Amino acid sequence: MDFTLELSDEQRALQSTIREFAEAEIAPSAAQWDRDGAFPTKTIKRLGDLGVMGLPFPENYGGLGAGTLSFAIALEELARADSSVAITVAASVSLGGAPLLLFGTERQKEQWLVPLARGETLGAFASTEPGMGSDVQGLQTTARHEVDEWVINGTKAYITNAGTELSAFVITTAVTGERDAGKPEVSTLIVPTSAEGFFPQRPYEKMGWHASDTRELSYQDCRVPYDMLLGPRGAGARQFLATLDGGRIGVGAMGVGLAQGCLDHSTDWAQQRCAFGQPIARYQAVSFALAELKTRISAARALVYRAAALKDAGKPYSEEAAQAKLFASELAVHAADVAMQVHGGYGYMEESAIPRFYRDAKILTIGEGTSEILKLVIARHMGLPV
Ligand SMILES: Cc1cc2nc3c(=O)[nH]c(=O)nc-3n(C[C@H](O)[C@H](O)[C@H](O)COP(=O)(O)OP(=O)(O)OC[C@H]3O[C@@H](n4cnc5c(N)ncnc54)[C@H](O)[C@@H]3O)c2cc1C
Repeated sequence: MDFTLELSDEQRALQSTIREFAEAEIAPSAAQWDRDGAFPTKTIKRLGDLGVMGLPFPENYGGLGAGTLSFAIALEELARADSSVAITVAASVSLGGAPLLLFGTERQKEQWLVPLARGETLGAFASTEPGMGSDVQGLQTTARHEVDEWVINGTKAYITNAGTELSAFVITTAVTGERDAGKPEVSTLIVPTSAEGFFPQRPYEKMGWHASDTRELSYQDCRVPYDMLLGPRGAGARQFLATLDGGRIGVGAMGVGLAQGCLDHSTDWAQQRCAFGQPIARYQAVSFALAELKTRISAARALVYRAAALKDAGKPYSEEAAQAKLFASELAVHAADVAMQVHGGYGYMEESAIPRFYRDAKILTIGEGTSEILKLVIARHMGLPV
């Protein structure tokens, strides 16, 4: 067992490439994008050119074949600078691309995964609805089989990446029938954004992630060919859970990155800012808060890397991914709070990066499994009757 968490030469090179890119091309513009709610299309395309959108996908599907751990390292570096960019990448790869890799036919992979992995398009995943998020059994969206087509009707809520100029398709969960016990039969469909009857609504006004695209989606007799079914009919609930397991590693990595960004800003500030005749870092109350934060970030990073390494090794990782996301997302909220406290009044000003980190942190404890749902997953792995 390797406890050193030493990265390979390739992973270290990737880490410094993404860090340099994020510091040069993302951090200086992040406040402006946040203020304007502007989706950073050019930056996302540049990340595609760097291969980030295909990091974990095999080379024969347009990717770099670098694995989940490398992807987590990249997401961490992006979120250290800006969470809106990080979630755009995370959602496209983990929620748009990964189900295609896991469940798609060769033709589906060729048509939808390859352009995504090359960074030419973005993918989205639509499960949540106005009346349902955590409980996939409560789906209301339906897909009716008619001759050689699916006819989809329903509304999806809070969907990332479905309405940008790069958005090509939305992996959509829908009820396609009823099982014997009266339970819904849930299936997954690939819905091109150009499909007849598919209507992305205007972007939400959100608390954070202002530069990421989040919309309600309306499907009104939306027609897609029958072969847009992903995997077997009725496999939707299982596919949803498998997709989220992988996505949680990415969200965990974003939590680590956001927390690291807060720590780095705070460490710099604590050494510059003077109070009572000396830098505030001289006060143990300040330096100990940062030392404790650094320790918790190390623990979160270890959990994320462990889950990623298990996934890369083809071993079960569902519980580990839930633990990593639970711990790292709660830590991100704490880190933003510490950063604001250390920065004092300046930390409350939009001129500093801290309010953006503070607003961007909380959603990490909600999307792709709330903290409560993650505790359910972990408790069930423990054999507890919840
Ligand atoms: C900015 C943003 C982007 C998003 N992007 C996407 C996307 O791309 N695709 C997508 O499909 N969804 C997306 N979502 C939706 C997100 O995944 C859901 O909001 C999340 O899964 C929670 O679902 P919900 O909002 O319906 O909350 P609910 O399921 O209604 O939960 C409300 C509260 O009840 C608690 N709760 C529910 N069930 C239980 C239980 N059994 N035990 C204990 N507590 C419970 C929850 O933990 C939570 O605290 C996004 C959301 C946001 C805000």
